[in-house]
Amino acid sequence: MKLIVGNWKMNGRRAALAEVEAVAAAADTAGARLWLAPPATLVMAAADSAGDRIAIGGQDCHHAEDGAHTGCISAAQLVDAGARFVILGHSERRANQDESDALISAKANAARAAGLDVIVCVGETEAERDGGQAEAVVGGQLQGSLPSGADGLIVAYEPVWAIGTGRVPAEADVAAMHGFIRARLVARYGPAGGEVIILYGGSVKPDNAATLMAVPEVGGALVGGASLKADSLLAIAAASA
Ligand code: PEP
Repeated sequence: MKLIVGNWKMNGRRAALAEVEAVAAAADTAGARLWLAPPATLVMAAADSAGDRIAIGGQDCHHAEDGAHTGCISAAQLVDAGARFVILGHSERRANQDESDALISAKANAARAAGLDVIVCVGETEAERDGGQAEAVVGGQLQGSLPSGADGLIVAYEPVWAIGTGRVPAEADVAAMHGFIRARLVARYGPAGGEVIILYGGSVKPDNAATLMAVPEVGGALVGGASLKADSLLAIAAASA
């Protein structure tokens, strides 16, 4: 069964909890495992509403457990709010908050220590792909931003140029990159690296999900825009079955 993760980014007010409930209500028959990462303001309410039906997660966390870090949220606080996973190193945070590989790795280790599963995002820009640098860039991100162990780790391959654009890579390019990531995970973690789920992310929609989810080594999807409404997230889950 594929893992379909919705990333709401900075979208959603309390009224959007109705979408969480609709996804949770359909979870048993969805055809995929469903996780949702609402904004931090909704994590606790979403987790309360979802119960054990779907996992609720955060979109970022700090690498320290507590302390003088105004505006930040720790992994332990996410756990306390009911979160079960956290997305780390999304390309929007790498670009807009200047997050380095080393910082993302520190966050990933902190999140694992707190008991959260971690989704570490990697992906190249269009200029990097056009310049033949896609594997070098993704390889560097894997080298620098992963946690020390494979347990509880999920990697999301998200080509930056496919996020929110409606463009998706050719299936052969997705297959090649997922194969490359798998090889790097096995080289780093041994057999445990063979078990890490590798998600594809970038303009996954109900009408392209079946094709993308059938690509070798694609274990599921990280979905932005199409995760905001339960209907479209559930349609992606059904198409991936
Ligand atoms: C994302 O930002 O993780 C993402 C995949 O967004 P979208 O599905 O909107 O391209």
